[in-house]
Amino acid sequence: MSRIHNLGFPRIGSNRELKFACEAYWAGEQTEAELLAVAHRVKTENWQRQLSAGIDLLPVGDFSLYDHILDTSALVGNLPTRFRELSVGEIDRYFAAARGLQSDTLTLPASEMTKWFDTNYHYLVPEFDEQTCFSLHPEKLINDIEEAKSLHAELKVVLPGPLTYLWLGKERNGGDKLARLPQLIEIYNELFELLVSKNIRWVQLDEPILALDLPLNWQNSFEYCYHRLQNKQLSILLASYFGPLKENYGIVNRLPVAGLHLDAVRGASDVKRVIDLFAPHKILSIGIVDGRNIWRNDFEKSLTLLRACQDKLGDRLWLAPSCSLLHVPVDLNNESDIDEEIYHWLAFAQQKLEELSILKRALNGEHSDELSTRLQENADAQTARARSPKVHNAEVLADLKKVDESFTQRHSAFKLRAKIQQDFLKLPAYPTTTIGSFPQTKDIRQVRRAYKQNTISEAEYRERICKEIAYTIQEQEKLGLDVLVHGEAERNDMVEYFGEQLDGYIFTDKGWVQSYGSRCVKPPIIYGDVSRTQSMTVDWIRYAQSLTEKPVKGMLTGPITLLQWAFVRDDQPRSRTAQQIALALRAEVQELEQAGVSIIQVDEPALREGLPLRKADWSAYLTWAVHAFKLATCCVEDSTQIHTHMCYSEFNDIIESIAALDADVITIETSRSKMKLLEAFADFNYPNGIGPGVYDIHSPNVPNENDMSQLILRAQKHLPWQQLWVNPDCGLKTRGWEETRKALQEMVNASQNLRNQHRQNSAFA
Ligand code: GLN
Ligand code: ZN
Repeated sequence: MSRIHNLGFPRIGSNRELKFACEAYWAGEQTEAELLAVAHRVKTENWQRQLSAGIDLLPVGDFSLYDHILDTSALVGNLPTRFRELSVGEIDRYFAAARGLQSDTLTLPASEMTKWFDTNYHYLVPEFDEQTCFSLHPEKLINDIEEAKSLHAELKVVLPGPLTYLWLGKERNGGDKLARLPQLIEIYNELFELLVSKNIRWVQLDEPILALDLPLNWQNSFEYCYHRLQNKQLSILLASYFGPLKENYGIVNRLPVAGLHLDAVRGASDVKRVIDLFAPHKILSIGIVDGRNIWRNDFEKSLTLLRACQDKLGDRLWLAPSCSLLHVPVDLNNESDIDEEIYHWLAFAQQKLEELSILKRALNGEHSDELSTRLQENADAQTARARSPKVHNAEVLADLKKVDESFTQRHSAFKLRAKIQQDFLKLPAYPTTTIGSFPQTKDIRQVRRAYKQNTISEAEYRERICKEIAYTIQEQEKLGLDVLVHGEAERNDMVEYFGEQLDGYIFTDKGWVQSYGSRCVKPPIIYGDVSRTQSMTVDWIRYAQSLTEKPVKGMLTGPITLLQWAFVRDDQPRSRTAQQIALALRAEVQELEQAGVSIIQVDEPALREGLPLRKADWSAYLTWAVHAFKLATCCVEDSTQIHTHMCYSEFNDIIESIAALDADVITIETSRSKMKLLEAFADFNYPNGIGPGVYDIHSPNVPNENDMSQLILRAQKHLPWQQLWVNPDCGLKTRGWEETRKALQEMVNASQNLRNQHRQNSAFA
């Protein structure tokens, strides 16, 4: 009989209970005991859900108050050194390591946070330094094991594998992380003994780095590591996910582990490769249900693959989601507003467990009417989705067919455009601008909410937003900024705002997914061909422009960002969906231009994070991503200036593609790295306009004129001053008005000073 197991369940709670409990605890509104009670309830509910769905091996260790990598750091005695001596309770130490600590006498920076592979989840980076000395702190895990035991007999402890843990960490003072492996293995082995004493038989070690291009010494370390990670009474399930193993397959196949988990969604090629040659005694766990997207499993397709596996493996076949279900919302049953037809195409974490259970029953040869009905219903939903007029829009297809090379080409090359734009815009040297959003006050949020809930009329809503726009324009004029923005008061979120107006998108009520710690996002779902049915931003921008002589930037979210921060349909390549979004945005760009908007910014903060895990796949992605951006923007006259904005990025390895976007101006986040990021642009001789951020908007500190001048001068070491713009790092929506005003005034002064210096220099020349 095949068995089912789960790699991990979302831990925020079906109503984000854990988020609210953590935040209340941090705000001093709840006690530790109250927080732990909520955590206990969520954890237990998660287990109950998995048990009711018929999961054979219950996962333990996947639950976390903040982050599972930070939990591992705590488990192996490796919270960052600066938090270890802190005289606070364990939970406060843990949260301090996550969020940093600020008191009158002490400031300890938080752990660094970064993206979990190519997902939108962020983990806390383990730190290693001279004082790193691993030691086992298993209390929390043992406690979870005891709790789970009372619910179910067969448990599977879930942990990051030692190599993935080291790979994700950072040596603070240089040095080789791999040198720490032997010591870490000892800790794991010590833990294994403890697990055996608790009658645990299975431990799942997650090694998703197997889906990456690994340096040779890391590849070789797998053999070393897994030969030493041994306990005769404990079976290791080595879990790989997020992509195919490719060249790492040979390594994995030789490891002395009891089982192997493969991602059959993103690593489908592995499964075909593995079944013929699979070692005769090992378990093969097939990640058949997509743990990263919200579409219902296609049972017929899955069963074809699974039956082929079963023929070779018999009982040694296990079924699971492709990866932890952390990346999908908890339960579709929480939704009441989703279109009836589309609802039937979806599966969230709870439904994915149920799918596993049905697949298992079918695979194990059950012949009940109830099961047949379920299988039939699934087949019907697949057919309905494939044929639905909701998904397919003939007009969109016709528009796509018309796209040829001319769609992605500006009339003239940048040099000529720049001259035409300068004659037209007449901007001073070091032109100042902002990235788009201005402070989002409580008042503004409340207006948007009231409008959404229909408690204020459309007319009143428009009036309120216009008032906010007018205020923002007036403030920018007073500050003396050169290129103004309308401030984005009407936008709750840069993706949601556009998704809500585009055809092909739906939104959930409670489809929250953990982004980091207590922060959750609610990604929209792109279910069908995307098209624009009405203008989305033109009225607001036109109004803003009517209030000032200065140019106001049109402000759009780019096609790749709209794609990356959504659940995307899986029935066509992502590149094609990106193209559809790009065409919709192109229509908006054209309309903005017709409305007299002479500068249009298309934000692509997510362009870099869309990069595939494997370098070999980068060029294909970058080609279609650049194409989509150009498709959205290359429809304007030479005199119209296209801007783009990117943040959270390192640009070195994609600089060519950034240049290929051929935006007239790019604004980027650089102030925290003190302009180091600019080196990539300098080395490349980046030809177009560039605004390296000089004001770190993530910090409440108000930067002063002098610091910003220094940053610009530093930028000038890298790039000719004629190319430079002066602007903050990113949007200002999280800041308050007062600090923003002060900071921007300093910024404008810095730019004016530099201008004056130039004037003087040229007077002497
Ligand atoms: N225009 C957006 C803003 O200013 C850009 C946000 C972002 O880059 N994440 O808020
Ligand atoms: Zn940004």
